[in-house]
Amino acid sequence: MTRRFALMLDPVAADEQRDDYTGTFTQVDATAPALSVGELSTQRGDGVFESIGVVDGHAQEVVPHLERLAHSARLCDLPEPNLEQWRQAVQRAAAQLGAGESVIKLILSRGVEHGPTPTAWVTAAPAADFSAVRRDGVKVVTLDRGYDLGAAERAPWLLLGAKTLSYAVNMAALREAKRRGADDAVFLSSDGFVLEAPTASLLLRFGDRFTTPAPNGGILHGTTQLSVYDHLSARGFEVGYDRIPAGDLTRADAAWLVSSVRLAAAITAVDGVPLPVDAALTDELNAYLLSPRD
Ligand code: PLP
Repeated sequence: MTRRFALMLDPVAADEQRDDYTGTFTQVDATAPALSVGELSTQRGDGVFESIGVVDGHAQEVVPHLERLAHSARLCDLPEPNLEQWRQAVQRAAAQLGAGESVIKLILSRGVEHGPTPTAWVTAAPAADFSAVRRDGVKVVTLDRGYDLGAAERAPWLLLGAKTLSYAVNMAALREAKRRGADDAVFLSSDGFVLEAPTASLLLRFGDRFTTPAPNGGILHGTTQLSVYDHLSARGFEVGYDRIPAGDLTRADAAWLVSSVRLAAAITAVDGVPLPVDAALTDELNAYLLSPRD
């Protein structure tokens, strides 16, 4: 069974934006050429993407991911993606993935410069083994993201709420975290509020209430955080969205980074200050996140 491949999506004209659209996909092996030199050299990170967790061939939370892809595309003035076409591509890819954890990425790039249509493709690959980090958690450092909480509204061209292909800053933050002896980072706004991690959402527990930074345009609204909130609400916990001052990080009773493929990682220390770890709840969250979710 091949577990590493890409499906190239046909460009879809606006008049084909229908629910009964039947996609045709060109499947290519992960080692085969699929993108033109023109595409690669002009891309500039000008596009949007999604990473979907797949467990035993089941793609998790496909609709929230597709909706966020459409939201990102809108913010970037890309043509509206045909969600039925993408849904079919995800199903086609997931059906070829066997047991274990995998990751399906959806990529929509503006395409060849001055070209007629964006370029769209889906990749599938085995996921890294995250069992150790799910068990042991992560030490984080806080890093200034360089903009205040009002920036998203004041300067929409910064595309702060879009999941764009330009992740160079996020990757640089992870390298800085490693340089400082940590495993991951939590971004702070320049006016001192907690934002998100470079590739995950942040969740804090205060007693029986859980909180996460309000996704008011400056950060991504995490599909995993939303799903975890469903689970916590069903368990009788209170959940909410807040403006969280940086100082609250070390006052929390427990904290996690949550994302689609790594799932829930407990935060064990913030800037060298140890944080209490709720190992039982971490295990529960990961068991829930590994169960089939639509
Ligand atoms: N925030 C950022 C910047 C991310 O890159 C991600 C995921 O990659 C998340 C939050 C978490 O989103 P999700 O739970 O949908 O994976």
